[in-house]
Amino acid sequence: MISIKYYNVGLLVATLRYLIKMNKISGGHLVHIREFQKLMKELYYHRDSKRGIFKTFTWLVQEIGELGRALLDNDREGLKEEVGDVFAWLASLCNILDIDLEESAVSKYHGVCPKCGEKPCHCSTE
Ligand SMILES: [Zn+2]
Repeated sequence: MISIKYYNVGLLVATLRYLIKMNKISGGHLVHIREFQKLMKELYYHRDSKRGIFKTFTWLVQEIGELGRALLDNDREGLKEEVGDVFAWLASLCNILDIDLEESAVSKYHGVCPKCGEKPCHCSTE
């Protein structure tokens, strides 16, 4: 006996399409920023909290330097690896600071440019 109403079926289909699309984008793993930050906490918080804010920030800056090196070398595989490292260290820093990275990003960039309020941005500076 099926008791799902049409609007629920429509919502279910739309949700499944979205999940399938996201699954393809993420290579089989559907991960939101908050979930990724939680994973970093489970993996590294015990070390990150001992290392502290400023040493962890230093690691983040070092990874940004490595990203810059990959850019200068036009190293596509290196770029992919370094953006992942930068994001992971940013998530670690946020864990120590008790900042929700997803909430911070989305609350500032919620559909339009935070400066000019337009999409795409029409600010005069680069
Ligand atoms: Zn703008």
